[in-house]
Amino acid sequence: MITTIEELRRWSRQQHNLQKKIGLVPTMGALHDGHLSLVKTANQCCNAVLVSIFVNPTQFGVNEDFHQYPRPLEDDLRLLQTVGSPEVFVPNTAEMYPAGFDVSVHVGGVSQPFEGQIRPAHFDGVATIVLKLFLASGADTAFFGQKDFQQVCVVRKMVDDLNIPVEIVVCPTIREPDGLAMSSRNKYLSKSQRLQAVVLSQSLTLAEKMITDEKIRDVETVRQKIRSKIETVPDIKIDYIGIVDPKTLHELTTINSDTVILIAAKIGTTRLIDNVLITTTS
Ligand code: AMP
Repeated sequence: MITTIEELRRWSRQQHNLQKKIGLVPTMGALHDGHLSLVKTANQCCNAVLVSIFVNPTQFGVNEDFHQYPRPLEDDLRLLQTVGSPEVFVPNTAEMYPAGFDVSVHVGGVSQPFEGQIRPAHFDGVATIVLKLFLASGADTAFFGQKDFQQVCVVRKMVDDLNIPVEIVVCPTIREPDGLAMSSRNKYLSKSQRLQAVVLSQSLTLAEKMITDEKIRDVETVRQKIRSKIETVPDIKIDYIGIVDPKTLHELTTINSDTVILIAAKIGTTRLIDNVLITTTS
């Protein structure tokens, strides 16, 4: 296990000297099968795989769950042994943000709506830590989950605009058997909330059927269907239902090309997000 940036750089140099391709999987730990699927994909593409585990304080708002966020490091390390024992980078906060740290990476455009509106500093924190991890690890390829669709857009934009020589690979969302997208935050749900949470993925499946099978093209009709499905659970508060262009994240009025539906909702105090990418032939 590597804990300092200096050690990480040394490891990275060694791998590149051995002509190895470095694959980075950035995580905040509390690992589940979604994270492990990224590691498995990384194992197929790269011969030196690095998983970072760091609960990044700068991507949490003041009233969010930074202190509560689960940190089961021993379990995480054990799980990683089941997927080829990648190298693990577990820095502490002072290592990533030493006293006097005073840089923030801001990506415009795609970081503004949805999560950006509700969590104003979130993507600056994400972009800053991801760039630091790219630089310190010397990653050739980095693996992200489609589960955090907007995050992928932000990272891609940063990589494109700053000409960062890292290839971005996006892996499909891994779900529980009933359809709920796996998330470290699912641990916060009570038994009854966990049962209710399935309505999020169910609403997306309904919407996907409307678009692909029933050929419904009017965005407001689809949005209303999603809303009324989610609202069958009175304890859920919807933050947003975005039906947008997957590249720009601009809202659509009519669905006649590839579309992503982004949803976020709160069940009690737990905030969950999910999305579905729909490829259409109009
Ligand atoms: P996190 O630890 O939540 O910051 O997530 C680390 C990485 O795992 C991010 O790229 C996420 O998009 C990805 N991820 C989280 N949940 C899932 C999931 N259910 N399926 C696939 N990837 C996921």
